[in-house]
Formats: sequence, structure tokens, C-alpha cells
Amino acid sequence: MRLTSLSTLSLLSAAIGFSVMSTAQAAAPPAPNLSNAELQQCLNMLKNSSQFSGVSASTFERYRPSQPDPSVIQSLNYQPEFRKDIWDYLSVLVDKERVDDGIRAKRQWADTLRQIESRYGVKAEHVLGVWGVESNFGQTLGKKPLFESLATLSCFDRRQSYFRGEYANALKIVQNGDINANDMTGSWAGAFGQTQFMPSTFLELAVDFDGDGRRDLVNSVPDALASTANFLAKRGYRSGEAWGYEVKLPSGYSAASNRKDKKSMSHWRTQGLTLANGGTLPSDLSSAGLLLPAGKDGPAFLVGKNFDTFYSYNASESYALAIAHLSDLITKENSSKTDFITAWPTDDAGISRQQAKDIQQALLNAGYDIGGVDGIIGDNTRTAIQQYQTSNNIFPADGRAGQRFHTIIAGNNVASKPAASDSIGQLIQQQNITPTPSVSTFPTAIQTPKTSNIRYRRVAGTDGVIRLVRVDEGS
Ligand code: CA
Repeated sequence: MRLTSLSTLSLLSAAIGFSVMSTAQAAAPPAPNLSNAELQQCLNMLKNSSQFSGVSASTFERYRPSQPDPSVIQSLNYQPEFRKDIWDYLSVLVDKERVDDGIRAKRQWADTLRQIESRYGVKAEHVLGVWGVESNFGQTLGKKPLFESLATLSCFDRRQSYFRGEYANALKIVQNGDINANDMTGSWAGAFGQTQFMPSTFLELAVDFDGDGRRDLVNSVPDALASTANFLAKRGYRSGEAWGYEVKLPSGYSAASNRKDKKSMSHWRTQGLTLANGGTLPSDLSSAGLLLPAGKDGPAFLVGKNFDTFYSYNASESYALAIAHLSDLITKENSSKTDFITAWPTDDAGISRQQAKDIQQALLNAGYDIGGVDGIIGDNTRTAIQQYQTSNNIFPADGRAGQRFHTIIAGNNVASKPAASDSIGQLIQQQNITPTPSVSTFPTAIQTPKTSNIRYRRVAGTDGVIRLVRVDEGS
């Protein structure tokens, strides 16, 4: 769930068009120094403002934060240091693990999903796709205390008016008795629960599906799944329609990616498009637009109205494609191949979350201080990868975690040993991997990394393990 015209929100996705940025492990800028006196003064003012008219004074005081949380302002102003390609974004978000989890969830909640499908007309796998991408089927809900986050965002920095509305709505949710105050935790910007709704979306669209009188999107899976279906239905979902199809363009076909320019399927058949496997385009989409996430040489899609409802959940085409693709694989109940039929235009494919963890573990073993192993390639990990690449003469030193880097650092159980330049060189030869020396292929966005002022110093610990300690320039 994404803020209106704000760039990053969801726990799992932070996507702007096809230039996808990672939010985890956000490093810069540093957390600001916020005055608690200023916060409390601001809250005194808010308490009596018209925006909080639906919130009682006792509710306001009961959940009044005793301090600001500077980290949410840091997240608000976070600028990613590395650009992420769509194949990297999708490979982590739609991997074997998530498809398997989705197939399990589909069986576990089969009765509930059937009832939801008959009431809201939304296909079970489409609801599961959203659930899987938003909160990893309820496993990743976000841990930031919502009132502290929203109060801070209401009183400091940009977009205060927007966040004041969300803060008031969050208080109303607790005041209504829908959700326990202790369960009001979420992303830095206030998205919470299994569906990662913002408080305003909750008040508009959350439903009580298990019939206990409360709309509990944190603890009740039926409430969460039905609320997701209600969201999609209210955004224009068409019952019985596919989200779209992966397609094949006729050779030499030239067209721009424009999913909003919807045409009939017979139009696209006339243009010579087929399903990606060569089959005839089905007629079960009333209209569809062409989506070319990586240009005409990558996978191509015809997407209908239901794809647009996924898009409305997070205002990102990459994000919507992740939901669409995950839902297809859960429908097929097959996690063995998570790629599209047409390959992405890269000779170095993206990695799964398990492979991301392999890389992080190998970096830790090699002495790089990247924090924990969480399977999320954030700025800290990418900075460490870049350092590793540079010191081991692996080019381009772009900080990217792809299949090639995974093979180099984590293949053949190198992960358990501290990495040394010699063994890397041998590995490159063994694996017949040609390090790419070409500067011309070096992505522009990374050519002048903002990480240039970040340095690591090798420090040998008492246990004999060499670790990298991050030091600022000049210190
Ligand atoms: Ca309920």
C-alpha cells in the first residue's frame, strides 16, 4: 500500500515505474535530531484541530507518544544509492519459496478463499498474490509503533498535512475497537497489517469477514483476505477475467509500452501477437494494453483491467507484475520455474531470497559488516558487494547481486571461508566466468556512486577474524 504520490511505502516493494529502489537497510541521510518539546507542542495543537475532531481527548492522550522517532524522517527522505533492474526486483519477490508458501496458503485457506470469491468476485489466487507480495502471507507486518511514526511525520518535515490525516485515522481505528493498540505496528509510513493498508484505506475498505464484530487486519486472515478482495473489487476488478498474459510480439513489431492504451484482443490478434508459447490469444479479456517492462527485447505482456487494480494497490507496474506473476504460479501450483517464457535482456539473471542470504552470509564470513542476513539486498549489502568486487578485481564493480556474483562468492561452498583474491581468481577460471571489463556497459546510475564517501577499514578481531569497520571520510 503506497502513499499517494509518495515514493516509498510498502515493506516489500519500493517501486517507481520500472526503476525499482530498495528501502531496506536505508543508510543515508542520517537520522535528524528532533526536539521532543517541539513534538509535544505540535501534538497539543493537533489535539484541538479540526483534523482530529473524530478522536476523543482521552483516546488522543492514551496513545500520545512520549518521544519522536527520527528514523521515520530518515526514511521519508531516503534516496536509494543504487538503481535496481526489474529482473532483480522480481526474482526476489517471486521466488520458489514464496510460490511454495502461496500454494500452502491456498490449501490452508481454501474454504475462506472460496467464500471470498463468491462474495466479492475476486479470484482466490489474485488475493493470494497481493497477500504474498504485501506481507509474505502475513509473515512480515512491520514493527514500528504506528502512533510514534505518524505523530513524528505529522509534526516534522514534508507532507505533514497528509500524515496528520493518517494519524487521526489510526487513532479512530483503535477507538472503534477494531484493532488492539498493541497491534498497531507497521512500516515507517504507517501501512500495517497483513494487507499493509494505510489507516485511511482501512477505514474505507476493511471488512469483518469472520463475523466477530471487529475488522482485524492484523490477527484475522479471513478479515485480511476479504479486505484485499474488497479493495480490488472497489477499484474496478472484473470477475472472471485474467489479469493479462505474457505474449510474443511478431518479429520487427514496434510499439511503445502503454498499458493504459487498451484495445480489444481481436485487435492484438490482427497485429500478429500470440501467447508467449505461440498459442492464439484468448478472448477472455475485454480489453488489454501492451506492457514492455524492459523494452521490446524482454518479456511482453497484454494486461487488462485487473492488472490495473493490482497497480492501484501500490502505483508501480513492477509491483503489479509481481502480484500477477505470483498469482499465476500459485494457480499452476508449480514453483519449479519462476521465470517468464521470454528471458529478460540480461546475461546475468537476478537471484532468489535464499541466494541473497547466501551472498550476505559469504560477505559476513569475508569480514564485511552488513548487519544481519535477511535476504534483502539493501544499500549496506550493495555497498559491501561493491567493496568486495573492487578489492577482488571483479568488474564491473557495480554492487549488484546477480547470479554471476552469487556463483563467485557463494558457489562451491566458498561462503564458509573468508574470501581471498586467489581463490576468487581460480573460481572465476573454474566457472568459466569472464569478468566484464567493459566500462561502456557500466550502468550510468552507478557510474558515480554516492557511496564514494563511505570507506571500510579492515580490523582483525581477537578471534582472528578480519572484519570491515565502516569509517566516514576524514575520520
Ligand atoms: Ca473480524
